[in-house]
Amino acid sequence: GGKGLLNLAGDAIKVCVRVRPLSSKESENQQRICVRIPPEPESPHTTRVMMLNPNDFSHSRNFSFDRAFWSVKPTDNHFASQEKIMQDLGAELREHVMDGYNSCLIAYGQTGSGKTYTILGHETPEQAGLLPRISEDIFKNIPNLRNTTNEFTVTISYLEIYNEQIRDLLVSPEEPRYKLEVRAHPKFGNFVHGVKEVPVMDWPNMKAWLDFGVKARAVASTSMNATSSRSHCIFSMEIVHKIWNSGAKTQQRSKLNVVDLAGSERQKKSQTSGSRLKEGAMINQSLSNLALVISRLADLAKNIHKENKKAMDFIPFRNSKLTFLLEDSLRGNSKSAMIAALSPAGSDYEETMSTLQFAQHVK
Ligand code: ADP
Ligand code: MG
Repeated sequence: GGKGLLNLAGDAIKVCVRVRPLSSKESENQQRICVRIPPEPESPHTTRVMMLNPNDFSHSRNFSFDRAFWSVKPTDNHFASQEKIMQDLGAELREHVMDGYNSCLIAYGQTGSGKTYTILGHETPEQAGLLPRISEDIFKNIPNLRNTTNEFTVTISYLEIYNEQIRDLLVSPEEPRYKLEVRAHPKFGNFVHGVKEVPVMDWPNMKAWLDFGVKARAVASTSMNATSSRSHCIFSMEIVHKIWNSGAKTQQRSKLNVVDLAGSERQKKSQTSGSRLKEGAMINQSLSNLALVISRLADLAKNIHKENKKAMDFIPFRNSKLTFLLEDSLRGNSKSAMIAALSPAGSDYEETMSTLQFAQHVK
C-alpha cells in the first residue's frame, strides 16, 4: 500500500511510545503519573507526549511521536490494548513482510517499562503481544495464498546478544556452542553464521520454539548471575515465497526482526564494578550506536529521494553486532518501528525522560 511506515512523512522509522500502567506497588506508594498524552492529536501524523516534573507539575517538556499508546486509564482516548497495538502497528508490519519486504520492530526502554509485554505479552489471548499476533496471522494467511504456483516456507531463529557475544536461544545448553559471528552475504544480506534456523510449519509449531527460546534465555542469564534485561534479544522470521510462472521460478525473501533491547537504564553506582561495569558500557555503546544509525537513516530519508549510495556507506552499521545484524531490516525499502516503553511513575522520572530523549533523537 502507499501509506506505509516508511512513506509516512518520509521517516526511516516510525517511532511510537507506550505508557504502561502504574504497578500495584507504585499505586500503593501513591506515585504520581508524570506522563500525559493530550487527547487531541498534534497533527494527523504526530501525537504529543508531555513529561511533567514530579516535584512541580507546572514544569513540563513536550515531545512528539508518530503514535502514543496509553495504558493507564481505560477511559482515556489513547488507551491501547494489545489488540489495538496490533491493529495500529503490527498489521502494517505483517502486511509488509508478506509483501516481500524486510521489517523490524524494536522495543526500547528501561527494565520494567513494558518491552517484553509489548513484544511477547502474556499467555491469555487478550494479553498476547505483537510477535504472537503477527506470527499467528501470517500462518493463518499462508494456506489461502498457497497453491500450485505459490509456495511459502517460514524459518525462524532466536538469539541474544550479551556483552557483544551472540548466543543461540534455540540450541539446548548441552549442544556444542561456538562463537557466533555476523557475516555479510552478497545476495541474502547479513546473517549469523552457525545460528540454528528452524523451519516451522504452523503457529503451534512456532510457538513451541518461541517458548523454548524464552526459557533458554532465562536459564542462561540465571547461570551467569545476570538478568535477561542485560541482553538484546532478537527473534527473526524469514519467509521465502516461491512463484512458478510458466516453468520459470522466482523467489521473494523477506525477514521480520523483532528486537527486545537490553534495559536502557544506567547502572546504579553501587553496582558499577567489574563485570557489571563492562556490561553497562557494552549496552550503552550498542544502544547509542543504534540511535546513531537510525538517526542517520532518518536524515537520509528526509533529505534525499534518490538512492544515495555513498551516504549509506557512512552509516556505522558494523560498529555493533546489533546494528550489523539489523542492517537489512533498517535500510533500503524496509519498514521499521520502534516502541519506546515508558513508566508513568514519578519515581522513574529520570529514566523516562532519557527514554523520551532517545526516541526523539531517533526520529
Ligand atoms: P520490560 O520487558 O521492559 O523489562 P515488562 O514487559 O516485563 O518490562 O513489564 C513489566 C511489568 O509491567 C510486567 O509485569 C508487565 O506485565 C507489566 N506491563 C507492562 N506493560 C503493560 C501494559 N501496557 N499493560 C499492562 N501491564 C503491563
Ligand atoms: Mg523484558
